[in-house]
Amino acid sequence: MPSKRVAEQEAGAPARADPPAPTVRATLLGTGTSTGVPVLGCDCAVCTSDDPRDQRLRSSCHLVVRPRGPGGCDDDAVHLQIDTGPDFRRQALRYGVERVDAVLYTHAHFDHVTGLDDLRPFFFQNAAPAPCFARPHTAKVLRRMFPHVFVHDDYPNASNLELHEITEDALAGVGRFAYLTDASAIPDASFDQLDGQVDTLVIDALHRRDHPTHFSIEEATRAARRIGARATYFTHLTHSVRHAEEEPRLPEGIHLAYDGLRLQVEGGKALRAVESER
Ligand SMILES: [Zn+2]
Ligand SMILES: [Zn+2]
Repeated sequence: MPSKRVAEQEAGAPARADPPAPTVRATLLGTGTSTGVPVLGCDCAVCTSDDPRDQRLRSSCHLVVRPRGPGGCDDDAVHLQIDTGPDFRRQALRYGVERVDAVLYTHAHFDHVTGLDDLRPFFFQNAAPAPCFARPHTAKVLRRMFPHVFVHDDYPNASNLELHEITEDALAGVGRFAYLTDASAIPDASFDQLDGQVDTLVIDALHRRDHPTHFSIEEATRAARRIGARATYFTHLTHSVRHAEEEPRLPEGIHLAYDGLRLQVEGGKALRAVESER
């Protein structure tokens, strides 16, 4: 028996509308480059600034995703963690991360993975292993760095996390929210994937100067314009960026992120993102 939907399509009836995109609440747990800001031993104006927006822990992001869109209730919410850098434990305490249902690793650099061990308390009581998603190379590095978490023969019952290898590229997109970190270029195919799909974009930008493996502020601005998100936030910032000076220089719709920034991306027809109080 064909399903009702197939039967309708065979009969020439219009396909049903797609379900609404999920509503996403993103908390930027850290917005600093690999050293964090202040940089140890540095007494520059940014490292000694008393503006809290100039103090940057290592970059990561926590998402609360409500699959049914604005009408979804808290019980439906899925809590996704993107990267767990060396500051993850402190960030989870500071910003009230109470639950992690799944983790996505963007890549295997130290500033994005070394807090992985601090995930274990979230999963002690789980009946089923919680999934960690990573591309094959990253998964290989994680298994080597954290054998007590992933090599269960050596450390029985040590943790309740399971690695899943994914083949997609490093773009992390959920609903109308996209998070791109540690990039210095975006392939055309990825631009096509993002084109017109993103309401709120978080993208890495180190500072004004060029860098071989990261976007500069100018390059990230060009990439953001091409993606065309309604609002873009720069992350993975160095101590060359003083928030109060740089923010007013950015074009409309583009902002500097800061630690603790919360972004609400509504998934229904009326797309709306709200920058909430720190
Ligand atoms: Zn400094
Ligand atoms: Zn990084």
